[in-house]
Amino acid sequence: MQRKKFKKPDWQLEIARERIEILFNLAKKGLEKHPKRSRRYVELARKISLRYNIRLPKEVKRGFCRKCSILYIRENCEEIDSKLPNIKMIKCLNCGEIKKIPK
Ligand SMILES: [Zn+2]
Repeated sequence: MQRKKFKKPDWQLEIARERIEILFNLAKKGLEKHPKRSRRYVELARKISLRYNIRLPKEVKRGFCRKCSILYIRENCEEIDSKLPNIKMIKCLNCGEIKKIPK
């Protein structure tokens, strides 16, 4: 009997990556008109990335709140003063989560 491999087949990873990209695009598009739906899309994309062990690109990862899954736009986040010179701090105005981003 063959043992189940831990890694998913490439074609599945490929589809998963595509779905993540589509979901983030939908989330961006729907953010203003359907904020709730937009957050669901981000949540789904994150679930897929966890299940398939796919790392999200840096720019994508920095672009949303890890707590409430809202995509950051100018109106819903705020840069706050950081005492550390090479760390940027962003506060989510939706849930209050503070994110530290290396500059
Ligand atoms: Zn948040």
